[in-house]
Amino acid sequence: MRKRIIREKGRVREVARERIQRLLDLADGAPLERADRYTALAGRLAQRHRVRLDRETRQRICKGCRGHLRYGSTARVRLTQGVRVVTCLRCGRITRIPYP
Ligand SMILES: [Zn+2]
Repeated sequence: MRKRIIREKGRVREVARERIQRLLDLADGAPLERADRYTALAGRLAQRHRVRLDRETRQRICKGCRGHLRYGSTARVRLTQGVRVVTCLRCGRITRIPYP
């Protein structure tokens, strides 16, 4: 019984992962207000189902407003010594990402 529950959980997570991926793919091509909705949904799904997003994906979602970070239009990127500074132009949240 317990085993079955665990297996089903894995299945649910698998579906969630697929949905998240699909939402984020859609967000890339969508107009901005829809892209925001897609990323917000994807972020919430990830949280609810404890799906870890890969680094690249995580960096496309603003941690402040959960909006879609589109470099050049909704996000400003500045490179300083060893740090990539991404500023969300809508909520002002700053994310610092080290790079080699
Ligand atoms: Zn933001």
